[in-house]
Amino acid sequence: MSSTPVSSAAPSSARARLRKSWKLLIGGEWRDAASGRTFATIDPATEEPLAEVAEAAEPDVDVAVRAARKAFEEGPWRRMSGAERGALLWRLADLLQQNAQEIAEIESLDAGKPISDTTRVDLPLAIATYRYFAGWADKIEGETIPSRFHTFNYTIREPLGVVACIVPWNYPLLLASYKVAPALACGNAVVLKPATQTPLSALRLGELALEAGLPPGVLNVIPGPGRTCGEALAGHGGVDKVALTGSTATGSRVMAAAARNCTKVQLELGGKSPNVVFADADLDEAAKGATFGIFTNKGEICTAGSRLFVESKIHDELLAKVVERAEKLKQGDTLDPKTRLGPQVSREQRDTVLRYIEIGKKEGARLVTGGGPPEDLKRGYFVRPTVFAGVSNEMTIAREEIFGPVLSVIRFDDFDELIRKANETIYGLAAGVWTRDIRKAHRAARLLEAGTVWVNTYNLYDPSTPFGGFKRSGFGRELGSAAIDEYTHRKSVWIDLG
Ligand code: NAD
Repeated sequence: MSSTPVSSAAPSSARARLRKSWKLLIGGEWRDAASGRTFATIDPATEEPLAEVAEAAEPDVDVAVRAARKAFEEGPWRRMSGAERGALLWRLADLLQQNAQEIAEIESLDAGKPISDTTRVDLPLAIATYRYFAGWADKIEGETIPSRFHTFNYTIREPLGVVACIVPWNYPLLLASYKVAPALACGNAVVLKPATQTPLSALRLGELALEAGLPPGVLNVIPGPGRTCGEALAGHGGVDKVALTGSTATGSRVMAAAARNCTKVQLELGGKSPNVVFADADLDEAAKGATFGIFTNKGEICTAGSRLFVESKIHDELLAKVVERAEKLKQGDTLDPKTRLGPQVSREQRDTVLRYIEIGKKEGARLVTGGGPPEDLKRGYFVRPTVFAGVSNEMTIAREEIFGPVLSVIRFDDFDELIRKANETIYGLAAGVWTRDIRKAHRAARLLEAGTVWVNTYNLYDPSTPFGGFKRSGFGRELGSAAIDEYTHRKSVWIDLG
């Protein structure tokens, strides 16, 4: 995930500076939850509470959806020109840029992400996403269509209305931008529900949207638990589309809730991505890519290359290189610029990862490195980068998404066997291929069942390039021109020419 870094000055007092109390943003106003309830968001590096946040539930969802509907139906947003909307989104990107260091710190503290990542990846990519879709706002064109009749047929692209964006905790600001930026560029109003583990950057985004001049109610932000707030939002009759990034189990629940109103759904879900190293690859580059593929964001990334397929001939050599790299990754405070691997986002997530490590051992995989919390870190939800060799595709650690820093290394001997094994999963989000043979690379790219295939690289993203899953990794595409299709209706107009 490379990008141009924002400034990365040492943020020593970021914890002290952080605002300690946050409300819901609804209709341009900051409100307490109707119930008056709040929840604490925790710093996973220290296990201490960071801030208290108003907790949205069904009544707040209803008010937020109504506010968004009002902003959509009666406000200036959908009536203004695309150029004006684009200018406002560009201004929002400018404000994110101006406040990038502060927001990177918020994201690091809330999500357990090293500051070197949030300043070099999350913020620059989120800002680029707003700029990219700001550029689209005045280029959303219809078509003229030759029909069989003596008519003039054309299409208009219209916004859908109220879009519910439900996002996870691993890339809170960035994954919100993948939905919010195109939805707004197309003229929709948005209700954004961040995860309770990581609500702060979304609330700060809402604040900057108001400062940028987005009309009240166009972007509402309501943190709250999935089973109450999220499900009420997905099942609300006033919502025209639900866009979710989350686990496959949550995807099913969101679909079921949305089905009550036949609401359009877009799902970006889990993965168990194969990262494949052929014997003819540049092994140093492949080892780097394999390490980066799984340990990026401490394995809390939907595209994690969690199944590393290695051709037998080079298996031992590559494994040694990967292990050497994994053992060098520095863990520690998320605000330390030298930290490369942060803590898991929560105690639950850390415990889940540790449980999978035990399952791996019980099922006979060989633990090569890692396997538990680091001994020198006494607090924080850290897990050492863990590598299992001798894994078979049937083992639980090769089938289920762990969402943590756990790599399963699987041998293969032959191309067809590799493709069969790589595709033997319910998921289909991403895949990596390492080879110097261009024909093999293209053949593999065609045969792998995945929405994204990286060749001799891994975990690269750009707002211009569509992203999404096959199979139970979801459907629909974020980013690129595909996102404009996802957030607009295509209306056909017929004019009788007499
Ligand atoms: P999650 O599914 O638990 O939660 C995601 C969001 O959905 C949160 O805001 C949560 O509060 C909400 N939610 C939970 N239950 C809900 C329900 N019943 N109705 C409505 N909303 C509900 O996922 P997570 O643990 O936050 O994130 C990890 C998962 O997200 C992993 O499976 C990962 O692969 C996936 N993910 C996918 C992508 C992608 O682009 N495909 C990107 C990042 C993460």
